[in-house]
Amino acid sequence: MKFDERIEERKRMVEKLKEELGISERVAKAMLKVPRHLFVPPQYSNEAYYDYPLPIGYGQTISAPHMVAIMCDLLDLLPGQKVLEVGGGSGYHAAVVAELVGEGGKVIMIERIPELAERAKKTLRSLGYDNVEVIVGDGSEGYESEAPYDRIYVTAAAPDVPEPLVEQLKIGGKMVIPIGSEIQTLYVIEKDEKGIKKKRWGSVRFVPLLGKYGFRL
Ligand code: SAM
Repeated sequence: MKFDERIEERKRMVEKLKEELGISERVAKAMLKVPRHLFVPPQYSNEAYYDYPLPIGYGQTISAPHMVAIMCDLLDLLPGQKVLEVGGGSGYHAAVVAELVGEGGKVIMIERIPELAERAKKTLRSLGYDNVEVIVGDGSEGYESEAPYDRIYVTAAAPDVPEPLVEQLKIGGKMVIPIGSEIQTLYVIEKDEKGIKKKRWGSVRFVPLLGKYGFRL
C-alpha cells in the first residue's frame, strides 16, 4: 500500500531523470518503487519528488534524486551483491540500492548521527527492507565485521579515499566517493590485484565526511 502512495509524482520524477540524464532502466525501476516522501521530514513531504536535496535535521540532507540515480548507475549494482553505504542519512539511498541488489543481496548502511540512524531504521523496517542493516558509527573506518564488499559508496565528501574502505573492497569491486572540501569531485574507484584505479566523474556538492579518515571534528 505504502508503495502505491504518490506513484504518479514518482513516475514524473523518474521520467524526467530518464530524459535528462539517460539513467538506466534498472535504476529507474528501483527509484519508481521507493516512496521518497516517507524518508523526508513531514514538513518537506510535498517537495519529496522534486529533484533537489532536502534537510533531514541535524544539519544534514537527503541527496537530490539525480545524485542517487547517478551514483547507482556508476556503481553498476547487481542482484546478490553486498554493499556498504557510508553516510546513510535518511535511508532513502540505501532503500534504492536494496531494490537493486534484491533479497539475495545486502546493504550495510553506516550513519554517525544516532537519531538519523534510528529514524532511517524505522522507515526501512516499516517498508520491509530487511536486507538493509543500519549501523551507528564512523563510516570513514568502514565496517570491518561485514567486509569485504562488492560495492562501497560514500555520500559525504572526504579529504581523500579512506584507506580502510580500500582494504574492505573486494578485488574486482567498485567504490564511488566524493573527494574535496570546497570543490568536490566524484570518483569511481576500481580495485584489482595491483591496487586501485581512480576515474574522475565530475563536480559535486556533499556535506563533509567527519571522522578518523574524514575531516576531523
Ligand atoms: N544517502 C543519504 C540519504 O539517502 O538520505 C544522504 C546522506 S547525507 C548527504 C550525508 C550523511 O553522512 C549525513 O547524514 C552525515 O551525518 C553522514 N556522515 C558524515 N560523516 C560520517 C561518517 N564518518 N560516518 C557515517 N556517516 C557520516
